[in-house]
Amino acid sequence: MHIHRRQFASTLLGASAAMLVPRPLLALSRHVSATRGLSSVAPIIDGVRLNARLAELATIGARTDGGVDRVGYSDHDIAARSWIEPLLQQAGLTVRRDTAGNIIARREGSDASLKPLVIGSHIDSVPAGGRYDGTVGVLASIEVADALRVSRTALRHPLEVVIWMNEEGGLIGSRIVAGDFREEDLNAKAVAGMTHREGITRLGGDPSRLDSARWQPGRIAAYVELHIEQGGSLDRDALEIGVVEGIVGIYAWDVTITGQQNHSGATAMVDRKDALLAASRYVAAVDRIVRAEGQAVGTVGRLAVAPGARNVIPGRVDASLELRSLDETRITRLFDAIQRECTQIAEANGTAFEFTLAQSRGPSMCVPAIRDVVRTQARALGRSTNDVPSGAGHDAQSMAPIGPMGMLFVPSVGGISHSPWEFTQPAQVTHGAEVLLQTVLALDANPPAAS
Ligand SMILES: [Zn+2]
Repeated sequence: MHIHRRQFASTLLGASAAMLVPRPLLALSRHVSATRGLSSVAPIIDGVRLNARLAELATIGARTDGGVDRVGYSDHDIAARSWIEPLLQQAGLTVRRDTAGNIIARREGSDASLKPLVIGSHIDSVPAGGRYDGTVGVLASIEVADALRVSRTALRHPLEVVIWMNEEGGLIGSRIVAGDFREEDLNAKAVAGMTHREGITRLGGDPSRLDSARWQPGRIAAYVELHIEQGGSLDRDALEIGVVEGIVGIYAWDVTITGQQNHSGATAMVDRKDALLAASRYVAAVDRIVRAEGQAVGTVGRLAVAPGARNVIPGRVDASLELRSLDETRITRLFDAIQRECTQIAEANGTAFEFTLAQSRGPSMCVPAIRDVVRTQARALGRSTNDVPSGAGHDAQSMAPIGPMGMLFVPSVGGISHSPWEFTQPAQVTHGAEVLLQTVLALDANPPAAS
């Protein structure tokens, strides 16, 4: 279509008319409505600043390959926490550190009787980690708070932005808050090379008074966490927002396969009881059985062959099994099928399998009410969505027993995470923050029923 120059100019003027309102008038209208307790302008996410801050945070503990080393309790972790506290204050939040070392920043609501809406994530990383894991949720939460401040939007509920400490070390901060952390765990060594007791002290916490960091069930109106997907399903299907169904349950076993160690030259093929041969059949069986079932993942991540010599038939293999699914009965069914198959493998070559349960954690489901709000708000903003499970653990699972919990994901390009090559498109980061903001507004108007 050909547009005449004058016509073009007037179209341009029309499109930007809203921006041409004289400043004093805009300020006045804000003032008037603020005194009435209403907001005059809709809160908006500053996506440019959000992505700039992501890049700036990535300089703390930056690696030459583009990744970050910001392990919980490390100097870089402490530097990042000092960097972020002023941002929380600038967003109009009152900042405190609990005795666990979590950073909790709060904005009061208009109704003092209501429980807080809580949003947040973490800024520590795995060794040689990426720039987006955790940080997207934290910096987006700060943008949400600042958008509310700038637009003078009063929420009925208090809003809390939480930066959980040492997520990558095993959800330490959120588990302490949920009362899912034992006194003796304080003496365990963290990745940063010190005990959790020492680490918490370094972060300004008080490991002798962790009880006062506890949140009782019912303490919150809702918890919502924005995070990168880490898996590749959204990126593969070119979708923008993942409505998280829940965080998968994890069951893990130590598996011992016993055969007979013997001479590789003098033992005929028919006489062999090869533990590694049984192990290789076992690895293939796990893959086949779990694929056939679907909606679960299964992994054999460890095989230690003994004695491990070129001229000795392996007598023993120490292996592992990990099964993850949103559906605990599925995990049980898979484990039964794997065990049955292992009985056959063992009979076929004279070996024996022994499974010892090493870890069992049930799934944490996101409440349907929050899933619905995230989906509705994402679609209202024109975003494509899909319901997805979280195969990775998150602080959100610690919140599940405390109150209604939900999560939303933005795509990870190529499904890569816990890696310097982790990447989320800036526009997707902004979209995630926008959906988080609208989710907070919708939950403030219509909080989920306490379960
Ligand atoms: Zn994370």
